[in-house]
Amino acid sequence: MVAEGHEVISFAAGEPDFPTPEHIIAAATDAAHNPANHHYTAAAGLPDLREAVAAYTLEHSLVEVETSQVAITNGAKQAVFNAFAAILDPGDEVLLPTPYWVTYPASIQLAGGIPISTPPSPSAPFKVDVEDLEAAKTDRTRALVLVSPSNPTGSSYEHDELKAVGEWAEENEVWVVADEIYQRLVYPAGTAPSIAAVCPELETWILVNGVAKAYAMTGWRVGWLAGPRDIIDAAIRLQSHATSNVNNIAQRAALAAIQGPQESVDLMRQAFDRRRKLMHGMVSSIDGVTCAEPEGAFYVFPDVSRLLGGRFTTSAELAEGILEDAQVAVVPGESFGTPGFVRLSYAASDADIEEGVSRIAGMFGGP
Ligand code: PMP
Repeated sequence: MVAEGHEVISFAAGEPDFPTPEHIIAAATDAAHNPANHHYTAAAGLPDLREAVAAYTLEHSLVEVETSQVAITNGAKQAVFNAFAAILDPGDEVLLPTPYWVTYPASIQLAGGIPISTPPSPSAPFKVDVEDLEAAKTDRTRALVLVSPSNPTGSSYEHDELKAVGEWAEENEVWVVADEIYQRLVYPAGTAPSIAAVCPELETWILVNGVAKAYAMTGWRVGWLAGPRDIIDAAIRLQSHATSNVNNIAQRAALAAIQGPQESVDLMRQAFDRRRKLMHGMVSSIDGVTCAEPEGAFYVFPDVSRLLGGRFTTSAELAEGILEDAQVAVVPGESFGTPGFVRLSYAASDADIEEGVSRIAGMFGGP
C-alpha cells in the first residue's frame, strides 16, 4: 500500500523508532578500523563483553553471574533458541503463557519441545499465577516462559507475583526462561524485577536479554543468555557449530552501549512514556474498546471483542479492515495466541499516534 502511494501509518513494528545513539555508532566505526575485529573470535562472545554483561546483569537484574555464565548471541532471538536447545529433550513440554511473542512456540518446537498454551485466569488476563501453572502442568513439563515486561501486552510482573511463580518452579523442578529484553522500559522509571533475584532458592533459570530495545539497536543483532554454567557451555557448543561468534563490530558497539553514557536510554523511556499515555488514552475512548494500561515495553493490547460480530467476525479480519479503511497497520491477537485483541506499538511519533488512532476511532465512533 505504501508503494502504491497510500499514507499508511504503522503501529505494527516491534522496535524503537529512534536511531542508535551516536557514541555507539562511533565505537562501531573505531572497531571496524581495528584489524583485531576482522577475524574469528570465541563463539561465546568477546571476553570484555561477557564480563560487561555479567556486571550489567548484576546492576539491572540484581543477579550475580560469573563471566563464564554468559553467552553472547545473535540477538535475544538466538538466546531463546539456544536456551531451549540446551534444556529440552524431544517431547518435553514448555508452559507458554498467552498472549506470547510469536517466536516462542516456533523456537520450542525447533528444539523438539511442545509449547503448551497457558492462559492466565480471566480475572488477571495478562499474567499467570500458580493456579494457572498447576492447571497446565503434566509429567512432561520441563520449562516455563516468563516475559516481563511483556510483548504484546506491556504488563509487568511484580515482586510477589514473581516470587510465587519462582517458588512453584523450584518445587516442581521446572526451568524458567525469563526474557528480560524490556526490563529497562518500565513506567514510571525503574527496572522490572528479575525472577532470579526475587527467588534466590530457584537455580533453574535462564535470563535472556540484549541491547535491541533499550538502546535502539534491533538491527545490530546482539543479545545474550545467562544461566548455570553447564547450560551456557551447551549453548556455546551449539552456537560454535551453528553460527560461530556474533559480528565483532556489533559486539564492540554493544559494549559501548552498556558501558557508555546511559542518558539516551532514559530519554527514549520518557518519550515512550509520553506516547504510552497518549495512545492508551485515545484507544481507551474508542466505543467498544477496553484497554489495560501498559506498565512496560512499547505496546498497548486492547480488547476489541465487542467490535466483533458485525462486519468483522475475528480480530484478524478487524486488523485487515483497519488497514483497508483507516490505512493503519495493527497486529491481530491471533498472532499471539489470543484472539479478540489487537496489538498497537507506540514506538511511533506523537503525530502518527494522534492521526492513526483518530482514523481507527473514526471507523467505530470515538474522539
Ligand atoms: N524477546 C521479546 C519478548 C521480543 O519482543 C523480541 C523482539 N521482538 C526479542 C526477544 C528479540 O530481540 P532481538 O532483536 O535481540 O533478537
